[in-house]
Amino acid sequence: MASWCVSTRHANDIDAATADRLRWVDAHSHIWTPDVDKFPLAEGVSVEDLAPRSFTDEQLLKVANPLGVERVVLIQHHTYHAYDNSCCIAAASKRPDTFRVVGMMDETLADIPQRMNKLLADRVTAFRITPRIRPDSWLTSDGAKVMWRTAARTGQSMCCLIDSEHLEAVDASCKQFPDTRVVIDHFARIGVDGQIRDTDVKKLCRLSRHRQTYVKVSAFYALGKKRPPHNELRPMVRALFDAFGPERLMWGSDCPYQLNESNNYQSSLDFMNSLDYLSDGDRLWVMRKTAEKVFFAA
Ligand SMILES: [Zn+2]
Repeated sequence: MASWCVSTRHANDIDAATADRLRWVDAHSHIWTPDVDKFPLAEGVSVEDLAPRSFTDEQLLKVANPLGVERVVLIQHHTYHAYDNSCCIAAASKRPDTFRVVGMMDETLADIPQRMNKLLADRVTAFRITPRIRPDSWLTSDGAKVMWRTAARTGQSMCCLIDSEHLEAVDASCKQFPDTRVVIDHFARIGVDGQIRDTDVKKLCRLSRHRQTYVKVSAFYALGKKRPPHNELRPMVRALFDAFGPERLMWGSDCPYQLNESNNYQSSLDFMNSLDYLSDGDRLWVMRKTAEKVFFAA
């Protein structure tokens, strides 16, 4: 009878408190498989290069589910699969309630809008873009601009894998395409060299004046001292919370990369749990609803 707070799916085998906890969305993880016949690797990459050798959707859920993470946004892994998004798409097609895909697209191809629409039907609700591939034109080429313009129409997001030095260029694109939703991955990697510079944090916070900008609170293992309890990241997270608010921040693990010696899935969640200024409502946004809105509603 106590079904007002427990979905029927969970009611039979777990208690209400646990069911209530089973609701987080991880806004950032990768997957790959050693089955390279099914999902061929990029040119020049062999199965020996995969590290770890295997991290499939099944393995990911085995880590995430017991800790209350129900849904995950799968991020295309360019080094392993280049622009072939089929590994992530297949996982999302197998579990449409669980996964969405941030794909990658070669912006020099023809027919970008048609391609974006086709990928949207395959649950690719965002695109990872980065200066790492074409540093001089990744935001300014004709194809890149078509992507940004089309994304405003389709509701797909542009997810930027950048360093802080690229924030000003992204800011210019946000200004040029104010209706395009933009997500900054991993705090624009501020702190990747161990130093969290105030000037960089300010630049990132300044993006919040564009109403369609979002930030992933993620990849703690790669930033600052790179190990729990990640206290040196706290002032930056607080500044972002003050600038963007909970409805434009989203937590992500960056699995499987955060699974190393002192970092694990639980420690990433522990860091989020320790942010005591988050109200229950704020937490619901940062841990679930923002990612739901950005990636699962498109
Ligand atoms: Zn990643």
